[in-house]
Amino acid sequence: MIRSLLIANRGEIACRVIRTAKRLGVRTVAVHSDADANAMHVTLADEAVRIGAAPAGESYLVKERIVAAALATGAEAIHPGYGFLSENAGFADAIAEAGLVFVGPPADAIRAMGSKSAAKALMQKAGVPLVPGYHGAKQDMATLQAAADRIGYPVLVKASAGGGGKGMRVVSKAADLAAAVEGAKREAKSSFGDPHLMLEKYLPKARHVEVQVFCDTLDGAVYLFERDCSVQRRHQKVFEEAPAPGMKPDLRARMGEAAVAAAKAVGYVGAGTVEFLLAGKEFYFIEMNTRLQVEHPVTEAITGTDLVEWQLRVASGEPLPMRQDELSIDGHAIEVRLYAEDPDKGFLPQTGTLRHLVFPEGPGVRIDTGVRQGDAVGVHYDPMIAKIIVRGADRAEACDRLSDALKATQVVGLETNLDLLLGVLDGGPFRKGGVDTGWLDRVKAPKGGWRRLRPADDETLAAAALAVVEARGRAACGRAARSGDRFSPWFHTDGWRLNGAGYQEVKFHDPAGDGDRVVHMHAKAGGGWRADIGDGGCDVSRTDGTGVLIDGRRRPVHAVLLGGNVTVFTPDGRLKLDLIDPAAETDDGDGSGGGLTAPMPGRVTAVFVKSGDKVKRGQPLLILEAMKMEHTIAAPAEGHVVEIRPAVGDQVEEGTTLVSFEAG
Ligand code: ADP
Repeated sequence: MIRSLLIANRGEIACRVIRTAKRLGVRTVAVHSDADANAMHVTLADEAVRIGAAPAGESYLVKERIVAAALATGAEAIHPGYGFLSENAGFADAIAEAGLVFVGPPADAIRAMGSKSAAKALMQKAGVPLVPGYHGAKQDMATLQAAADRIGYPVLVKASAGGGGKGMRVVSKAADLAAAVEGAKREAKSSFGDPHLMLEKYLPKARHVEVQVFCDTLDGAVYLFERDCSVQRRHQKVFEEAPAPGMKPDLRARMGEAAVAAAKAVGYVGAGTVEFLLAGKEFYFIEMNTRLQVEHPVTEAITGTDLVEWQLRVASGEPLPMRQDELSIDGHAIEVRLYAEDPDKGFLPQTGTLRHLVFPEGPGVRIDTGVRQGDAVGVHYDPMIAKIIVRGADRAEACDRLSDALKATQVVGLETNLDLLLGVLDGGPFRKGGVDTGWLDRVKAPKGGWRRLRPADDETLAAAALAVVEARGRAACGRAARSGDRFSPWFHTDGWRLNGAGYQEVKFHDPAGDGDRVVHMHAKAGGGWRADIGDGGCDVSRTDGTGVLIDGRRRPVHAVLLGGNVTVFTPDGRLKLDLIDPAAETDDGDGSGGGLTAPMPGRVTAVFVKSGDKVKRGQPLLILEAMKMEHTIAAPAEGHVVEIRPAVGDQVEEGTTLVSFEAG
């Protein structure tokens, strides 16, 4: 068995590989960029090596540095994870040349499957069914036009070197082909450095069903059944499950055997995934991914295996841990990808700090993540926060568990796709099972967007107000400590007054409920508060540091104050209340004035205000283009612009002050 392993990756997959390695007693070496110096994968590993600056092109994609790090730390083997260099044949070669073990297939197998068109030619020879199409070398328009006419419309134009859904175009009639070919060529050239295209019959109602295969160096090969990844947004997977809903045993066996034949045709070793489109009872090869997939945990959940352990054993020359007849399916598993993105703003990736982060726990729930509360989601890497994986005895139980798990997930500091995931899960078609790959793109967002916020009630208003008065208390303590007179009554925030009983007023705006709400918080003699809300109200106090007692009962509500908003999590969903006078409340330094800085490096493409302008909370001040997306920098509160620094066209670094701003 390999005794030491370098993980050439970051984030959740690096953490996941490290965990299995540790369990097997394998010493682990992490590599990291400057942005990841304190990342979770670095702290989990036994050792860590810095390999360069934050951009992946200067760190995680530099083969030589990774190999050098392995040699310097005495690591025997390198696990590539997924993404980055995982399907780079040159990387596999470099590792072999350095006398190290690559935890993956032989470089030639990566090469054979690297080009979709070449792979299809190979698969045709191996007798694996293909989507009708053209995957030849000739790329002139006359050849492509004739091929498309023969295939019949709609036709899908695909980049041969494609990945991540890029470089694909659906063409519904002959007249549109030339323009689509031009566009796809350009995109393929710029994204993959290779303009080679292929054509396929477009199957509009197909499902994406892929088979997990595993081969060892001793000629052993098995399939670990299928995953259905049909819930996709613009050809990218969002939900993944195993087994595929409604899959019949004979079709499963046929697909499994075809996948093994595909792997054998290229002399495969290790973990691989053969992707098919399934239309009715017919299935067609689309591509093979020569690495561990993001969605491998659902297969682990239903087969009771640890695929990273299998990878390490196979890479050590051991036989596959199980034979085909020893493998079986037990239960149903679903995975969702929790992303830092805003589904209501064109899925704009979000960057920032995870100020509050709670993941669900419970039977059948697994969380694969590479971040902790307080970590930043930056511009340089994939904005996935976590994979939430559930297993149930059957699909209905898995759906219920996923619904509970998503409701128990708490993120403050960034927008996420959590509400979209819940909306999709609870919608009828997903529950029924067997949706096609175009389904999610056809689903219209609910009126008002995906974000689901419930209205406030007395209990949640009281919990929110408690968070606010506590923050005021902390702020007053800070001021008192700085003032030299710590016991001055002027710094009390419990409603102390010179004459008679006082109270603190907390004013909220509830966008999902009755508009403005006022809570009067009266400090009670024995501790805790009386929250008067209109004619009603309740007693509210803190227990065990984080819990809330409402009228003496412990309630599962959790309020988080951040930047002029209070987010309250409850078992029935979350709500977000805007503080009406936020500058007075925040104790986190956000939004109460000072400077607004660039959240990421980018270029200023529009400036809407000038120095001295009065602005409303949320009013756009300027637009920063970064990560090929536009990010609006808005006023954090009502106030005025003291100075606006950059001009249109200026390139700015992360952290540069863009606007100096004064609230009030
Ligand atoms: P990538 O490598 O970019 O992920 P794939 O070839 O794996 O590209 O295809 C990604 C997705 O695109 C599939 O899961 C499916 O939803 C869709 N797709 C690919 N080929 C076809 C086709 N011939 N007909 C319909 N949809 C397709």
